[in-house]
Amino acid sequence: MKTKILKGKDVVKEINKNLILDIQNLKKNNIIPGLAAILVGNDSASKVYIKSKEKAFEKLNCHTETFLFSEKSNDDEIILLINQLNKDPNFHGILIQLPLPKKFNTKKILHSVNPNKDVDGLHPYNLGLLLEGNPNFIPCTPNGVIQILKYNNISTEGKHAVIIGRSNIVGKPMFALLAQNFKMGNSTVTICHTRTGNLKEITSKADILIAAVGVPNLIDSSMVKEGVDIIDVGINRVDDDSVKGYKLVGDVDIESIYGKASSITPVPGGVGPLTIRMLISNTVNAAKKYARSTRGSTG
Ligand code: NAD
Repeated sequence: MKTKILKGKDVVKEINKNLILDIQNLKKNNIIPGLAAILVGNDSASKVYIKSKEKAFEKLNCHTETFLFSEKSNDDEIILLINQLNKDPNFHGILIQLPLPKKFNTKKILHSVNPNKDVDGLHPYNLGLLLEGNPNFIPCTPNGVIQILKYNNISTEGKHAVIIGRSNIVGKPMFALLAQNFKMGNSTVTICHTRTGNLKEITSKADILIAAVGVPNLIDSSMVKEGVDIIDVGINRVDDDSVKGYKLVGDVDIESIYGKASSITPVPGGVGPLTIRMLISNTVNAAKKYARSTRGSTG
């Protein structure tokens, strides 16, 4: 079997078409979608993510500004800024770059973001709406996974989808999406984690396998069935002899599954570009809601 490589950039191109139109329409009303990103500490991977987000926003003529805090700052200082951003009409979305250094109270900080500006979809109000089947902002990475499946005509209906990982950012909202009575849902979903004893037995039964673990090459061909569609969310740095000193790999040993899987997303270049695109999409949607609300208030 020939294994199809599901490249993120093809899906991004398609999504950009509508996004560009929406951004142009907003501009006619003097609204430029704006994202405030909050970066705390010195984590090098987080800095790289923020830089690529800034670039992607600028490329689509959206506004983005990053607010930096040192590790010496505290929850209250960050929440004070969030309270100001919640009221600032120039920012339609607020993003807290995760993970925060350990000393910070991540939940308290996330909960202080106005749900109408929660473009990462991580506020409990938005997570609740997603579980209810009536989503407002959908967390970016799981939504990106859905877009990849949709673009490649990989139906989810009636399939057995296995998700490895139960984080609030990826695994749990991924479950909420695939289990819903949505066109790109209606799967029978199994969610695996560190306490799953028989991982191989479960992954071997997956029609669609979504790995969001953070363990390089955890999944190999012996753990999947012929014809499976695999979405590899994992991004792991592995040391090598290159100038950079490392390379990025996923949670799936892609070499080993060639010829057995029906399709797989590469790392890098698979899910990653979609995550940023979904962030822009959520920010544009927040700006559209803002535009509607101001039109309403001015009659
Ligand atoms: P996390 O550490 O919060 O969660 C990892 C999950 O994997 C946990 O729920 C844990 O129970 C499970 N797990 C760990 N080891 C396991 C094992 N041996 N067997 C079964 N389950 C195991 O991580 P996260 O934030 O969900 O991210 C997961 C991976 O996805 C990371 O590599 C991260 O860098 C990547 N990621 C990529 C994107 C993207 O845009 N492509 C976005 C977010 C996260």
